[in-house]
Amino acid sequence: DGEDLNPEEVEFEKALRPLSFDDFTGQAKVVENIKIFVQAAKQREEPLDHVLLHGPPGLGKTTLSHIISNELNSSIKVTSGPVLDKPGDLAGLLTNLEPNDVLFIDEIHRLNAVVEEYLYSAMEDYKIDIMLDSGPSARSVQIGLNPFTLIGATTRSGLLTSPLRARFGINARLEYYDSGLLTSIVKRSSSILGMPIEENAALELARRSRGTPRIANNLLRRTRDFAQIKGNGTITKAITTFALEALDVDAHGLDEMDNRILSTIIEKFKGGPVGISTIATACGEEADTIEEVYEPFLIKEGFLKRTSRGREATELAYKHLKIVPPSRMG
Ligand code: ATP
Repeated sequence: DGEDLNPEEVEFEKALRPLSFDDFTGQAKVVENIKIFVQAAKQREEPLDHVLLHGPPGLGKTTLSHIISNELNSSIKVTSGPVLDKPGDLAGLLTNLEPNDVLFIDEIHRLNAVVEEYLYSAMEDYKIDIMLDSGPSARSVQIGLNPFTLIGATTRSGLLTSPLRARFGINARLEYYDSGLLTSIVKRSSSILGMPIEENAALELARRSRGTPRIANNLLRRTRDFAQIKGNGTITKAITTFALEALDVDAHGLDEMDNRILSTIIEKFKGGPVGISTIATACGEEADTIEEVYEPFLIKEGFLKRTSRGREATELAYKHLKIVPPSRMG
């Protein structure tokens, strides 16, 4: 589900990416714990235990992994599940790690089974078995690795196999950010960009960012363009409202799939309750993705309810889509 970024966006993200725990806003509990684990590992001069970070896209999994490696004074090698096609790809990365380095695997739920198998002994004993030659002369040799920390990131923790999951000593879930935290992030970003922003403009951007720092930064970037061309360079509340309107950003920051899920439940299933797989088929999206990426935000914001019989649209959802709810009497 990782979005494709153009080079300009990559630069922008790099400039705004927090580099230390102190720069990282929110996720207080996760950060507090990880700080302790990092400190303890450093004191013992051991690698940090393997870390699994899960949660919806854009909440800071990659950012946090870079911070962890910075704070460990180690290097980080970055790859992703779908890129690691063959065991040889993984072996190449692993054998190049220095002691206590971090290997970051994004979308770790998309590793293929053979590569995943190789990862087990690497994670457990810092060893891998490599096959040399093929056919009758094939033999396997064992290679020792430097101790390292694997950080796996996933939006779909439910798809991880249990043997893989069991090999992570540290397991942290990132949550959506509330608008107070996102306001701080927007203000920090605009100060890095040298762009003055009014407090209530920052709050408005925060409210419409789907609880997600990446979206907040992207909206800030677009709003900055409007402020530069249509305004006097300061991001005011008026410019922000104008920009968000022009960009078709929903009043609650819901995206197209969020709205499609709600309108499907309401229009095709009388508001529910309806099962997740039925919703998935009707929306043309995978059930796991709905469950792990979209639904948590819709529930948190009060648009959706989870009941034993399935998902139900709330009155707020009807109001949001400007549909009159059926009478509850009939
Ligand atoms: P994905 O899984 O989709 O790759 P992610 O969870 O790894 O997403 P990041 O790429 O780490 O998300 O974060 C997206 C952007 O949001 C970063 O460039 C960073 O600038 C910003 N960001 C994320 N978390 C924070 C935070 N806590 N404070 C400030 N900025 C943040």
